[in-house]
Amino acid sequence: YKAKRGIDGVEVYDPAHHERNAARLSLLTELRQAVEGHELVLFYQPKYAFQASDELHVEALVRWIHPQRGFISPMDFIPFAEQTGYIRTITHWVMNESIRQCAQWQRSGRKVHIGLNLSARDLLQPELPAQFCALLERHACRADWITLEITESAVLDDPAKALANLEHLRATGCRLSIDDYGTGYSSLSYVRQMPVQELKIDRSFVMNLITQPDDEIIVRSTIELAHNMGLTVTAEGVETEAVLQRLAELGCDLAQGYFICRPLGVAELETWLQTSPWARAGHHQRALADE
Ligand code: C2E
Ligand code: MG
Ligand code: MG
Ligand code: MG
Repeated sequence: YKAKRGIDGVEVYDPAHHERNAARLSLLTELRQAVEGHELVLFYQPKYAFQASDELHVEALVRWIHPQRGFISPMDFIPFAEQTGYIRTITHWVMNESIRQCAQWQRSGRKVHIGLNLSARDLLQPELPAQFCALLERHACRADWITLEITESAVLDDPAKALANLEHLRATGCRLSIDDYGTGYSSLSYVRQMPVQELKIDRSFVMNLITQPDDEIIVRSTIELAHNMGLTVTAEGVETEAVLQRLAELGCDLAQGYFICRPLGVAELETWLQTSPWARAGHHQRALADE
């Protein structure tokens, strides 16, 4: 909290600050109510697997359905939750809900891998691995069907602590993924020290893959190096068929983006699986090479 300073250094009352603080306080109260009042929901965005398989991969993305304000994007409350520390509660809710859903799909015969997002602050919580493990047991969910997505910057904040926690998480049997790869400062040689199995290339490199030769070079060499390290590569932000086609040629493993599907609720996802030509786990399988 920064107060405005008068000419002589005396603090003067700043109504704008007061308003901002009041707004933050009410947002925190509302966020608490959101978790308790079941206003948070998970949407799932399916990925397209270039190698046909009966297994589906999705990313769980949280949404807040506010009773008055309606739909609120995670971009508008996750950063705030991170600042206030309330992210711990949200992450616990997200882990519980996605593990529950994953186990339910397993029981109904659908093989769905779920990726969920962790914040930098979560990685510095020593209790996180034990909490995660307890949730897997509670729902009798296979650990290797859950992937935890982390950003490079999350590890750079406090590498020793974060890496130790990553090792503990990995020991539970789950998969680990580097999200938004390329936007941080780490090199692939740094990534090599992390116990990760997947790399998600940030959408800023993927979106203009066709028109920007530099982006193509970055994506191509990232895929090559990641494969040499035994990592699975997902491209984010695939918005056109041309980009999807190019990624297939570059040997990418999975593609995620609006061209394939937007994030959907569970019921809508079921419909998508039954009807979309891009739904590998559905009946209408479509391979790029068929065209
Ligand atoms: P992210 O993990 O990189 O997730 C991908 C974001 O890109 C999602 O936005 C998704 O809807 C969007 N997206 C997917 N395909 C496309 C595309 O083709 N084009 C474009 N322009 N965007 C696409 P969303 O759902 O708004 O989430 C934004 C970010 O909020 C996420 O980025 C993630 O960092 C964070 N977030 C979302 N859910 C959670 C959560 O449960 N916990 C935490 N800690 N963070 C979350
Ligand atoms: Mg993510
Ligand atoms: Mg991402
Ligand atoms: Mg992103």
